[in-house]
Formats: sequence, structure tokens, C-alpha cells
Amino acid sequence: MIVTVLGSGAAAPSATRVQAGVLVEAGAVRLLVDCGAGVVHRMATLGVDWSGLTHIALTHFHADHLSDLVTLFVAWRYGQLPPRSAPLTLFGPPGTLGVLGRLAAAFDVDVTAYGFPVTAIELPRRGTVPLGGGVTLASHPVPHTPESVAYSVSDGVHRLVVSGDTPEDEAFADWAAGCDVLLLECSLPESMAVASHLTPEGVGRMAARAHPRRLVCTHLYPPLEGADIPGLVARWWSGPVMVARDGTVLALPGND
Ligand SMILES: [Zn+2]
Ligand SMILES: [Zn+2]
Repeated sequence: MIVTVLGSGAAAPSATRVQAGVLVEAGAVRLLVDCGAGVVHRMATLGVDWSGLTHIALTHFHADHLSDLVTLFVAWRYGQLPPRSAPLTLFGPPGTLGVLGRLAAAFDVDVTAYGFPVTAIELPRRGTVPLGGGVTLASHPVPHTPESVAYSVSDGVHRLVVSGDTPEDEAFADWAAGCDVLLLECSLPESMAVASHLTPEGVGRMAARAHPRRLVCTHLYPPLEGADIPGLVARWWSGPVMVARDGTVLALPGND
């Protein structure tokens, strides 16, 4: 499994971080988790084969996780020759089909009928679905918005957990327990803490409960630039921690 952080930023404009997006490659699966503003062009910057995605999974409906979805579909139809013909499966929490309908109304881009076969599936907030080749996607609720979920991707050898947006939550940490990579949002410093997001210290407490093999912080707002995030996390968690950049690649050797 190869995990590429495409966008390590959040809602605030940043010179170096676009909004949320993670590419997960496992066997024939090329899954994009979230598609915030800048993610599509960042794939081009990084030389990622944006035309070859097989699956998309949305964690929730905030714009910084969703707003490049239309950009991606327009690129597939008008940004390449020939236009995309390969099928795609799009997952999201309950309410996803309504969001896609509203995007269709706003942009005249119905992603479920856009010239190639798209299967749009609302996953239960606690669900598991096979992606093919022994790769599975699982969802778990997180208390960020009413629909928000985290995702787990397993290839039979390794397990990646992507938090999406979340505050501290013991049930989510327990669900993530023992994963190989825990990609946790890390939004704001303690001095600006809000109830719907994590601080570095909160990340440390989550990791201390989940005990991932590797902990990776993403979804940074500008006030955290320059902060000693690993040092703050280490007040609670002594395991390996890194702060993602756009383009951070995590290779988990195994089935590939
Ligand atoms: Zn966000
Ligand atoms: Zn959010």
C-alpha cells in the first residue's frame, strides 16, 4: 500500500498546503479520500495519474474536503483525450446522494451521469465494503458534523486509518487501535482550540489510546506553521510522529 498526502491543509489559504486529499494505492485500487480545493491540480504537480483513479471516498461535506470534486469530473471529461470511460465508485456517508444532486444543480455536472459509469454509494457510518483485490474500506463515525466519518483501508497486510475532521474521540481512537498508519487531522494550537477539531496535544492523546505504528499529522491551519508539533504531540505520545506536507508519501510494503 502506498499513501500519498495530496493536500495537507484545511480551509485557510496556504502557500504550501492545498485542502484535504489523500491518495491510497493498493493493488489495482487507486482511492482518493476527500477532494478539497487544490487537490486536483496538486495531483498534476506531484505527477500523480489523476486520470486513473478507481474510487473516491468523502469523509464529510465541508467544502475543504469536497470542493474540487466537480473540478475532477470536468477534468475527466474535458481535460483529456479521449474522455474518461473507465468506471468509478464514489462512497460517502448518508446524505452523499443529496450533495451530489445539489452539485449537479449548481454546476450542471451530474457526477453520476457524466459520460462514464459511476456508482455512488452511501455507506452507513459504520460500514465495510470490498474494493476488489482483497482491499476493504471501512467507515466509523466521528463527532465533527452529523455525517462525518473516518475511513480505514486494509489490504490484508496493512491498515491505514484516515480521520477526516474530528475532535478527540475515544471510540474512534479505539476503532483505529493498532493500525499501521494513523493519519490524524491536526488543525489548531491549544490557544485557538475549537470543539470540532484537534490540537497537537489532542493528537497526542488520541495516539496514546490508538497506538498506531506511525502517526502522521495533516489538515494544518496556518497558526500551526512553525510550531513544534512533534514536541507537543510527544507530551502524550512517545511513538513515531511526522507532520505531512503536500506530497508526503508513506510506503507500506506488502501486497503490492
Ligand atoms: Zn476540514
Ligand atoms: Zn470539516
